[in-house]
Amino acid sequence: MKTISGKAVVGAIAQGTIVFYQRNDLIISRRKVSDTKRELTRYEKAKSETEQELDSFYEDALERLGEENAQIFVIHKMMLFDAQFDNRIQSLITDSSYNAEYAVARAAIELTRVLANNDSDYVRERTADVRDISERLIRHLLNAQTGEIELKENSIICADSIMPSEAMMFDKTKIAAFCTAAGAENSHASILARSMDLPCIVCMGDELCDELDGKEAIVDGYEGLLFVEPDEITIRRAQDRIKVEQRKHEMLTTLIGEPNVTADGRSVRVCASVYDLSEVESAVSNDAGGIGLFRSESLYIGERVFPDEELLFYNYRRVLEDMNGREVTLLTYDMSAEITADILNMKKEPNPALGYRSIRVCLEQQDIFKTQIRAMLRASVYGKMSIILPLIVDIGEFRHARAIINDVKEQLREEGTAFSEDVKIGVMIETPAAVMTSDLLAKEADFFCIGTNDLEQFTLALDKNNSKYDRIRPENSTALLRMIKLVCDNAHRNGIEVGVCGELASDLSMTEILLQLEVDMLSVMPSRVLPLRKVIRELNLSDEERSKNLISQCLQTR
Ligand code: PEP
Ligand code: MG
Repeated sequence: MKTISGKAVVGAIAQGTIVFYQRNDLIISRRKVSDTKRELTRYEKAKSETEQELDSFYEDALERLGEENAQIFVIHKMMLFDAQFDNRIQSLITDSSYNAEYAVARAAIELTRVLANNDSDYVRERTADVRDISERLIRHLLNAQTGEIELKENSIICADSIMPSEAMMFDKTKIAAFCTAAGAENSHASILARSMDLPCIVCMGDELCDELDGKEAIVDGYEGLLFVEPDEITIRRAQDRIKVEQRKHEMLTTLIGEPNVTADGRSVRVCASVYDLSEVESAVSNDAGGIGLFRSESLYIGERVFPDEELLFYNYRRVLEDMNGREVTLLTYDMSAEITADILNMKKEPNPALGYRSIRVCLEQQDIFKTQIRAMLRASVYGKMSIILPLIVDIGEFRHARAIINDVKEQLREEGTAFSEDVKIGVMIETPAAVMTSDLLAKEADFFCIGTNDLEQFTLALDKNNSKYDRIRPENSTALLRMIKLVCDNAHRNGIEVGVCGELASDLSMTEILLQLEVDMLSVMPSRVLPLRKVIRELNLSDEERSKNLISQCLQTR
C-alpha cells in the first residue's frame, strides 16, 4: 500500500479505481527530477511508441497516397533517432535533471532555432517536422488524451490539475473522487466535488502521477490521504466509515419537506447554486427552495461560439419547469478571457480575473448579451424567474445593463412574444466597488446576492485559484463580514433582499453569523441544502446578548 497526502477539500470517503487524466493540449511543466533513470526510461518508452506510430502512418500513407507522400514518415523517423537531437534530450535529463517532457520541448526549440537560420529553404522547412515529432513524443510522455475520457463506475479522477471545461466533460455519475497534484480549495475540481459531495484532495504533488492509472485506491477526503492498493485493514476501516456516512445521509433525508426555520422561528430561504441541468435534478431531490444561481458556463466552455438563442431557451425553460414554480435566478454570462478567449477571438490576458470579462463583455458585445436576455425572458413564462448581473462595479453599469434588458423587452413586445413582466433584476455583489456603492444600487436593483468567492479574492487580494493562499479563515474574515453587514443594511433600508451565493454560504460554521448579519437567503451546492437545513433548525437567534457578542467579535467592533 502506498499513501499519498495532500490538502483535504471535501470530507468524504470513497473507494474505486484511479483514472489518471491528462489534458488534450500540451502543457509542459519544467520540473527537476530526482530519479533521472526513471525519466530516461519514460523517454525511451515514448520514443518506441512514437516509432510504432510512425510505422503505422507510413504503411497507411503508402497504401492510400503512394511512396512519395509516405516518405515524410521515413524522414520523421530519422529525426526521431537523429543523434544530435537524441543526445541533447538525454543530456538535459541526465546532466540537468529535467523532466522528459521539458527536455524534449527544449531540445526541439534549440534545434528549430538552428534550422530556421539556415540558408536553404529545404532545411528551414524541416522546423515544422521537428515540432511535429517533438509534439508526438510529448503526447506519448503525457499520455495525452484526444477526446472524452471513458469512465467506469467509481472512478477516482487523478490529474495534475483540472480545468473548468474538463470538469464539465466527465460523466458525473461515474466519479467517486477527485485528487489533483496542484489545484486549490476553490479551483473547479474542488467546487465540482463539493457540489457532488465527493471526496476531493488537492496539492498532492509529484507522487500523484500517471503510473497510478488503473490501480485500486481509497480516498480519505477528511484527512487528505490517498491509499493506493490499500491493505485489508484500510479497506475495512474505509468501508465502515462509508456506512456511517450513508446512515448520516439517510438521517438528513428525513428533513425533506421540513421548513428552514430556526428554533426561535426565523425563516430562511435555502436555494441551490448549480452549473447545469444535471445539477438541477440534484437540487430538486435535495429539496432546495429554488435555484439561487444558475450559471450558463457549461453551455459554452470548450466551445468555439456562444450558444444560440434556442439552446439557451431550452436550458432556461427546462430549469424553470423542473423547479416547478420555485424561484430560479439566472446569472448572465460570467465569462473570463481564460475561458472565452477563443470564442471572442482575443488573446489570453495576463490577469483574466481583472480583465475583459463578465458584464464588461456583455455591455460591449451587446448582440451576445441580447441573445441571452431574449432566451431568458422567453423562458420566464414557464415559472418564477429573476436575472442577476455579475461583476457590477457601479450604478452606471447596472443602468446600462438594465437599459439593454428593457430594449429586449420592447423588441419582444413588438414581436408579440410572451414574457413575464415580473422578472426581477438583481446585482451580484462581488466587487468591493459594488459593496461601497450598495446604497445607490439598492435604490434601483430588485435584489442583491453576494458572490463571496470573487468578493473575497478582490477584498483580501487572494487569488481564488491559488492554493498557497487559502480561502477565508476566521482571522481574516473581518473585512468580508463587515462588507456583508454593510450590504445587508443598505439593502434592507431600501426594502430589498440579500442572498449569499459564494462558497461561504456552504460553510456551515458561518451560518449563524450570516443569519445574525440578516442575510435573507443562502444559495449552496445541492448536496449542502439538507445539512444547512439541519443547522438552521438547530439555531436559536433570539438570545440578544449572544447575538451582540458574536457580531462584535466577528466584526471586531469592540
Ligand atoms: C462568486 O463569485 O461568489 C460566485 C458565486 O461566482 P464564481 O465563483 O463563479 O465567480
Ligand atoms: Mg463570481
